[in-house]
Amino acid sequence: MTDRTLRLILGDQLSIDHSWFTQPTTGVDYVLMEVRSEASYVPHHIQKIVAFFSAMRAFAAELDARGFSVRYIRLDDPANRQSLASNIEHLVSSTAYTRFEYQEPDEYRVAHELDTLASRLSCGAVKVSSEHFLTTPEFFQSVFKDHKRYVMELFYREVRKRYDLLMDGDKPLGDRWNFDAENRKKLPTGHTPPKPIEFSRDVRDIVEMLRAQKIRSIGTVDPARFTWPITRAESLQTLDYFCSALLPLFGTYQDAMHTEHRFLYHSKLSFALNTHLLSPLEVIHAAIKAFEGSKGEISLAQVEGFVRQIAGWREFMRGIYWTHMPDFKDLNFFQNTRPLPGYFWTGDTKMNCLKHAITQSLEEGYAHHIQRLMVTGNFTLLAGIDPNAVDEWYLGIYIDAIEWVQLPNTRGMSQFADGGIVGTKPYCSSGQYINKMSNYCSKCFYNYKEKFGERGCPFNTLYWDFLMRNKALLEKNPRIGMGYQLLAKMSDQDKTRIAEKAREVLENIEDL
Ligand SMILES: Cc1cc2nc3c(=O)[nH]c(=O)nc-3n(C[C@H](O)[C@H](O)[C@H](O)COP(=O)(O)OP(=O)(O)OC[C@H]3O[C@@H](n4cnc5c(N)ncnc54)[C@H](O)[C@@H]3O)c2cc1C
Ligand code: SF4
Repeated sequence: MTDRTLRLILGDQLSIDHSWFTQPTTGVDYVLMEVRSEASYVPHHIQKIVAFFSAMRAFAAELDARGFSVRYIRLDDPANRQSLASNIEHLVSSTAYTRFEYQEPDEYRVAHELDTLASRLSCGAVKVSSEHFLTTPEFFQSVFKDHKRYVMELFYREVRKRYDLLMDGDKPLGDRWNFDAENRKKLPTGHTPPKPIEFSRDVRDIVEMLRAQKIRSIGTVDPARFTWPITRAESLQTLDYFCSALLPLFGTYQDAMHTEHRFLYHSKLSFALNTHLLSPLEVIHAAIKAFEGSKGEISLAQVEGFVRQIAGWREFMRGIYWTHMPDFKDLNFFQNTRPLPGYFWTGDTKMNCLKHAITQSLEEGYAHHIQRLMVTGNFTLLAGIDPNAVDEWYLGIYIDAIEWVQLPNTRGMSQFADGGIVGTKPYCSSGQYINKMSNYCSKCFYNYKEKFGERGCPFNTLYWDFLMRNKALLEKNPRIGMGYQLLAKMSDQDKTRIAEKAREVLENIEDL
């Protein structure tokens, strides 16, 4: 029997630099497949499904043009068995492959499906590295082996040293590891950030196919003009644009929020990174090169802020995910059970911050980090929403949402449902923080200075009520001590009023 190998390329494994693609090999076929099980394990944003399928089709076409033997199974192919495992089983038996190979999946769910399949296939099966990340879960675990808890900063410094990123010998460049204090300003009135980079792709065929196949989705798309980068060339253009136009003020405004500027100085690189169209190291090196060649136009604080996101947060979240799955998915520290309010699917709320963050998410498949953390995530945490519902929403709505990165960010960092595995304290705030970092409050029905009355900002009432409600769980946390010190100074009468008002707010949560 002649040897024949089938290599599976998942929708988030589109790296042309992978060693699989050094050159075409006789007897090796590659397969990409659009399957119902992946398109519908949660209701995804329509732009997310379109982005994945477009990127996969473009990648398959590129491989084909380079002489690789590619099999592509479309969603509407009558022979499609609609799950990864059943399609592979069918291909292996019908084509008599002698070997099946797959790259390490990024997600636990997919890894479980493929590992189980591999163990029962009639031919040999081999798993290889995806060659994408800077670190392995084992490296993550080794960094923390003598520590009681995970600290991102510690991990980040190890990655900086390991890859010699912004280092001066064994010291950090500028003698500091962290420039956060110089970053994170509100967008000044009248300041207009550069236009976000956009592409223009006709995706009518995919959108029509999804409708015909009755794939449930959320959000909107302009099928005649799809704007996200979905090829490597477009991703590289997005990276170039970021380095020249956005990096100079990336750090300064990375936490700012604005009704008229949805992307501000953010890179829009998460989809390209999470689908492996770009590697984290090349993105980091491009930013450092731009900083070095900028003759001072790009400060160290800006580039350090950016490198921290990718070498630090992104890799750290992956380490947490692979160290704590599958249990992480079920953690619910506060035992929250409230359903997600209906306006998370429509944006129809009087709370201007939520209205903007949600509407933008529905229209773009995108919100930046602080909108996700301090607006939508903050609200669901303070309101005691069931973390399963919160996860499902985040996993569906964002173009970059893949479980390995979504879950630790949402259930861990934002909802503190892990009780402090990712972060040392819950990221929560009253309306004051939202007002400090955005222009949302000035046009809101609610008043960010008030906690009572018809116009009292729900974030204020719920913030204090959250602290009171969860006192037994949080009071001893030194990082949240300030909130409890202020609470201790509050009169009993005010505390009772807050509890009553919060009850009213939560009973009428759908009408806020
Ligand atoms: C509740 C919540 C859910 C999130 N869900 C996701 C998700 O599903 N997928 C996802 O990629 N990111 C997620 N993030 C992180 C972050 O919000 C996005 O990576 C970022 O908004 C993507 O936009 P950008 O490419 O313009 O990012 P930039 O602001 O330009 O940052 C550059 C890159 O840094 C990386 N990065 C920054 N912060 C993080 C972080 N906390 N974790 C991992 N990578 C980070 C991303 O790859 C990003 O592309 C989430 C954050 C929160 C608070
Ligand atoms: S006043 Fe409160 S609800 Fe309104 S935008 Fe500000 S923080 Fe949001």
